[in-house]
Amino acid sequence: MSTRHDCIFCRIVRGEIPARKVHEDDEILVFHDINPHAPVHFLMIPKVHIDNLYDAGPDHHPVLGRMLGMAGELARREGAEDGFRVVINNGRVGRQEVYHLHVHVLGGPEPLGPGMNRR
Ligand code: AMP
Ligand code: ZN
Repeated sequence: MSTRHDCIFCRIVRGEIPARKVHEDDEILVFHDINPHAPVHFLMIPKVHIDNLYDAGPDHHPVLGRMLGMAGELARREGAEDGFRVVINNGRVGRQEVYHLHVHVLGGPEPLGPGMNRR
């Protein structure tokens, strides 16, 4: 695993900045978003530093698959039992703020605001 000295999420991985952890294993860390946009809002990150999906190559496919595969179980465990959204912001147009790939998991209990279907 390689982390970057100046990256805030790598610092969380190294334990230099505290986070409210939801799950941790060899290659994935999951923690609550510090500024939640929904009652359930946590972030899933690969421990290895990748800026965003532009940098995801075949080596990263297994960990990306594992993150999506775990999202439902963790969302349910955190209280999003009636549905949730998964969002990955990439680059300037995607309004990415932290350049360490992260999957936002956002959920209820009440319906979230407008999404892709504009409802
Ligand atoms: P974005 O890069 O736009 O997908 O969003 C970055 C997200 O990281 C925002 O929702 C922030 O609230 C969140 N965030 C930034 N710093 C921390 C931190 N130290 N712990 C938890 N979440 C954070
Ligand atoms: Zn990083």
